[in-house]
Amino acid sequence: MKVSIIGGGLGGLACATSLAHKGYDVHLFEKNSTLGGKMRPVTLGDYYFDFGPNTITMPYVFNQVIEQTGVDAAPYFRFVEVQPHMKNVGVNGETFYLSNDRAFMIRQLQHLDPHGAKNYPAFITEISRLYFLARQHFLNKAFLSKKDFISPKLANALLAVRPFETLEKFLQRYFTNPFVLQCFMRYATYIGSSPYKTPATFAMIAYLELVEGVYYVPGGTASIAKGFERRARELGVKIYTNSEVTNIDIDNGVAKSIELKQGEKIFSDLLVVNADVLQAMPTLDSSFLAKKRQITPSSSVFVILAGLNKKIASLEHHNVFFSPNYFNEFEQLFEQKVYADEPTIYICNSSKTDVTRSPKGDNLLILVNAPAGQTPPDQYDEKIMKQLERYSIYIKDAIVQKQIITPQTIEQDFNSYKGALYGYASNSFRSAFFRHPNKSSIASNLYFVGGSTHPGGGSPLVTLGGMHVADAIVNQH
Ligand SMILES: Cc1cc2nc3c(=O)[nH]c(=O)nc-3n(C[C@H](O)[C@H](O)[C@H](O)COP(=O)(O)OP(=O)(O)OC[C@H]3O[C@@H](n4cnc5c(N)ncnc54)[C@H](O)[C@@H]3O)c2cc1C
Repeated sequence: MKVSIIGGGLGGLACATSLAHKGYDVHLFEKNSTLGGKMRPVTLGDYYFDFGPNTITMPYVFNQVIEQTGVDAAPYFRFVEVQPHMKNVGVNGETFYLSNDRAFMIRQLQHLDPHGAKNYPAFITEISRLYFLARQHFLNKAFLSKKDFISPKLANALLAVRPFETLEKFLQRYFTNPFVLQCFMRYATYIGSSPYKTPATFAMIAYLELVEGVYYVPGGTASIAKGFERRARELGVKIYTNSEVTNIDIDNGVAKSIELKQGEKIFSDLLVVNADVLQAMPTLDSSFLAKKRQITPSSSVFVILAGLNKKIASLEHHNVFFSPNYFNEFEQLFEQKVYADEPTIYICNSSKTDVTRSPKGDNLLILVNAPAGQTPPDQYDEKIMKQLERYSIYIKDAIVQKQIITPQTIEQDFNSYKGALYGYASNSFRSAFFRHPNKSSIASNLYFVGGSTHPGGGSPLVTLGGMHVADAIVNQH
């Protein structure tokens, strides 16, 4: 059976590899010259950067893509734990490191938030419960139609995962220090959302980091996508890069063919779309256009890739420098839809763990959240670098390589609606839990994978989604 896959992001690659292993004749079309989608390696002179996923959780999910095909994952990529995994810096220079070492966390909380130190074991128990419920009922299979979202079992599970409490309110049950709260509230941004709106359910992301840990892939995190591509090719997947799909021909409830920008028509029995559904759907289903206008896209990012001629000793692998007014930052991003005056700044310095990535100095990925679809103000990079100086991080005069990435670049490069990272924001119960199903309601052989569909964004979830959609295809066809 011939399957065409549109898009070679992690979701498309995981699906392609799984289907090829099951004997399908898989053809993958990617508009860019390289695969991996947002998991993209960038080289500037002697400096290597991972644009996209830097904080890797659930390593077993990536291994599973390879191992399910009957071979060991180690020759394709391997993981090392980053410990502690995050340095958070508050406006007054206070620090709070995150780790899956509970004793270490409690020791820090005893100084910063004694009430939180006492509550920490109960907090870990509760976020573990949220994660296991979500995994059992929500993350473990494809959701093929709207009906899958309204089963009584799922409804009971959803009610048990604190869907109507916000992440902020949930965290306030356990912690009192505003800086500590800020550090844990930041998990909402992992799904492109606001901690003041997103359901407490997403505290389960904290489970992944604070219980299971954070990982790095020696050679760069993009080695995961390269590993998927290598295994896909070994299993016979035909990969066509520089091949943008411009149309899907649906006839009588069946997707018959796709059309490439070059004009060629490709016929197949099954079709899997890894492109952002918010971009792909309106061309398939005009009723989707009205829906699209109502949705709140997830946040986007403004990124500076900076290769330095020096190493900054105070920087760890992952670092966050918090905004003095966190509430205002999200008001600006989601309500006013403008760039934050004083954004929270994330810096990834992977050369701290892997010096081979930039032997001559630090390779900084400096990232702030950005409102989807909005052009950055002039000299926003200068503003960010100036703000970092408050934390004694001086980089302006040390930069030897630099590239800026805006929501517009992300929209163009990956065909993501308004440059949003995860399609829809998860700022409400509805948008968090009722994402686009993995199967089309207008064509019986058309499936969807990737961050804008169930189970949602983030590199492990889109990878899981890709494997689950492959399983669903095997069951149905
Ligand atoms: C700056 C940044 C930081 C991130 N940080 C993290 C992190 O730390 N941890 C984490 O887990 N996740 C992170 N993410 C999110 C993660 O990268 C994504 O959730 C995941 O990689 C998305 O995979 P995907 O399969 O949904 O699709 P994408 O990566 O969006 O890939 C879709 C592919 O489809 C192609 N395509 C689109 N339209 C067409 C068409 N018409 N024809 C042919 N091809 C098409 C695109 O070119 C693209 O290659 C980050 C993302 C960004 C941008």
